[in-house]
Amino acid sequence: MIEDKIKAVVSRYNMPDEMKYFLTNDLIDSLLVSDIERKTMGRLEYKCRRCGAIEDGTHTPNVLQTIICVMNNYDLPKEWLGTPVTKTSIHNCKDGGIGVSDFIGGIGDKE
Ligand SMILES: [Zn+2]
Repeated sequence: MIEDKIKAVVSRYNMPDEMKYFLTNDLIDSLLVSDIERKTMGRLEYKCRRCGAIEDGTHTPNVLQTIICVMNNYDLPKEWLGTPVTKTSIHNCKDGGIGVSDFIGGIGDKE
């Protein structure tokens, strides 16, 4: 179990093999957690009902968890500290109009 974790950390971070003797349990866990977080971080997408533009300027630590929370009206984890994610937003359309945009999903950050 711990051997597998050490292998994962060493290969993930391209560590020299002898570095594994310096890995503590806490360090291993934090390195692996940040690895998982990196894969789930991403941007949320809103699509404007008026002009069809998709805006993706909102970052989240976890795309899927955010979608589940918004769909079910759950609060996002307090430790995320961001602004609340809403089902709709306001879009400043290119032609000067103001549109209503819907939360349509999200996409993970590329590595
Ligand atoms: Zn628009």
